[in-house]
Amino acid sequence: MKRKLINFNAGPAALPESVLNTIDQQIVNWQDMGLSILELGHRTLEFSALAEKLEASVRRILKVPDDFTILMLPGGANVLFSMLVMNLIGDFKTANYINTGYWSKAAIKEALKYTDVHIAASSEEQGYNTIPDIDTWDITKDAAFLHFTDNETIGGVEFSQIPAIENMVLVSDMTSSLFSKPIDFKRIGCIYASAQKNFGIAGMSLVIVRRDLLDRALPETPSVFHFANQDKSKSLLATPPTFAFYVASLVLDWIEEEGGVESMAERNLEKSTILYHFLDKSNLYHNPIDKKHRSRMNIPFTMDSSKESAFFNEAKKMGLLYLEGHRSIGGARASIYNAISTEQVNRLVDFLQYFETHY
Ligand code: PMP
Repeated sequence: MKRKLINFNAGPAALPESVLNTIDQQIVNWQDMGLSILELGHRTLEFSALAEKLEASVRRILKVPDDFTILMLPGGANVLFSMLVMNLIGDFKTANYINTGYWSKAAIKEALKYTDVHIAASSEEQGYNTIPDIDTWDITKDAAFLHFTDNETIGGVEFSQIPAIENMVLVSDMTSSLFSKPIDFKRIGCIYASAQKNFGIAGMSLVIVRRDLLDRALPETPSVFHFANQDKSKSLLATPPTFAFYVASLVLDWIEEEGGVESMAERNLEKSTILYHFLDKSNLYHNPIDKKHRSRMNIPFTMDSSKESAFFNEAKKMGLLYLEGHRSIGGARASIYNAISTEQVNRLVDFLQYFETHY
């Protein structure tokens, strides 16, 4: 089936059409087993093979070095906001956090339940429209780690590279950017992401963590979220979200077929450049983010608020769905993850142009 609608939702987000078609074909009879993946036990040989394949794909696609383990855990990044602290705080009394918006703040709020938090830098005073220059960061050395949100899904700011900070364990929420670009693991201690943006559906998350950090967990860390325990159990300590594993493995196959994260990065740059270029020359729309730190994944924009309701109605009529901004800030936002093509971004730009001319 060829779909005409375009899903610009921030997540759960658009999946590649070929992945949806494969699921459709395989849903009743997976691998000619005569069974559905939906009813397959997680202790079967077939499911273990799927989990191993998924892990191997993550390692290959992201070029994850051998001294890192890859964990596939139930739940999303909100769960990990606490679990990462329980696993990584060790005997330290504090952790550094960079506050660049809604999701950084959410991570900080959870962390405060377990540790002191030192805000090493914040763009709150700038309305979260930028990322503070790294030279101005005030990092506490005697801290378990430094946490940053690689891409702020709501605000639309993104780190263009892993911050060049030495002698500090870097931890990053990559929920809305994992698999959209290559990652340099040199300075990374731990990254994590929910699946439902760039590599699958809601229900699971990935944690990629350096092995030497696995001995830091607080004793009260729940077993299912205890990184070292899950490492020993190959992420199958408890019943995992099996369908989410399956979808992730299909999406990663698709990413490889399309040329890997290097090619995703090129496309994402191209797509976002097309959209920003249009927004910047428009008299109606406005993207307020510091150009150096604009997200390639989530592009918020504002317009005269009296035009918004007509805008969303017209967009919907044209098959352009979920362009509404997050409820916390309003306005509009286009999420253009890997599965959104350049052609689809061009369709959005055509609509933006049409609306600007006629309204
Ligand atoms: N961090 C970021 C950057 C996100 O975009 C989101 C979800 N939109 C979350 C964390 C929370 O993820 P979840 O809802 O899967 O817990």
